[in-house]
Amino acid sequence: MYSSFFFICTTVPFNHHCLYYNHMIDLHTHSYYSDGTLSPTELVFLAESLKMKALAITDHDTTMGLNEAISAAKNKNVNFIPGIELSVIHKPGELHILGLGLKNWEDAPILRKINNNRKSRNKQIIEIMNLNGLGIKYTDLEKLTKGTIGRPHFAEWMLRNGYVNNMNQAFREYLSRGKSFYIPREMVSLEEATDFIHNCRGFALIAHPLNIAVNFNTLLEKIDNWLDIGIDGFEGMYSGAKKNMTKRLLDYGRTKECLITGGSDFHGKNKPQIKPGRTKKMGIISDDFLPDELMHQL
Ligand code: AMP
Ligand code: FE
Ligand code: FE
Ligand code: ZN
Repeated sequence: MYSSFFFICTTVPFNHHCLYYNHMIDLHTHSYYSDGTLSPTELVFLAESLKMKALAITDHDTTMGLNEAISAAKNKNVNFIPGIELSVIHKPGELHILGLGLKNWEDAPILRKINNNRKSRNKQIIEIMNLNGLGIKYTDLEKLTKGTIGRPHFAEWMLRNGYVNNMNQAFREYLSRGKSFYIPREMVSLEEATDFIHNCRGFALIAHPLNIAVNFNTLLEKIDNWLDIGIDGFEGMYSGAKKNMTKRLLDYGRTKECLITGGSDFHGKNKPQIKPGRTKKMGIISDDFLPDELMHQL
């Protein structure tokens, strides 16, 4: 039933009011300034071709792609929301924070600090790989991205040089925690990341919360606490999440005064299973997950 309405309604022109069809959005994507494969301009054009109402670019640890995307979005029928994704200290595993609706992001010492940490970690990974006879140089990695270099670029290098059959295998066998080429990197704290995002006059949100390796009740307690210390909300609709868990998370979110966003975590060809503006299990990401607070700023 729903899918036939969807079909009918996608044929109406953009901005035309349609009772049954919410517009697609994507508030979590990566460009080639981190570990995506498309330029910011290409991402904006892709969003427009999909008739997206809003697109955010949220590259890891960098704002380098944002001005290009803003220019590309001028005269386009898509609202561009400047963003970033930061990894912060958390046990167990990693916690990712999205900054959305950034307004001033130039000259950020925290990003310089993060990228210095990355640089020394990248050099250590190169050393281990070379000790194992792989023959990799820093300049090889610089050719794979215009911005943040991270483990995905080591994975891509291994793929291009025939050491693995796909990026996932590179992570699984060599680059994940506990594997031979894994080096941890120094991360910033949740508070530092949140302060930075608020200083940029953006909103700070927990990215893909169900990926955090704790049980559901512990997760809700953690989110409660993060909201208390200044986090503005969480990503409620995203690519990898399961339907029943998403429902429980959204039910919880509705009891809180917080922002709930949606994004695919699109990385272009680096994660070909992820499609822009869509989840794997729940179809398109609709503008129900585009908070008014973000739209009002545009
Ligand atoms: P880093 O920040 O350098 O430690 O790299 C972590 C990033 O690698 C994550 O944010 C993901 O975007 C990416 N990543 C993690 N696991 C995989 C995987 N199995 N395949 C491709 N990319 C991955
Ligand atoms: Fe990534
Ligand atoms: Fe992430
Ligand atoms: Zn991401």
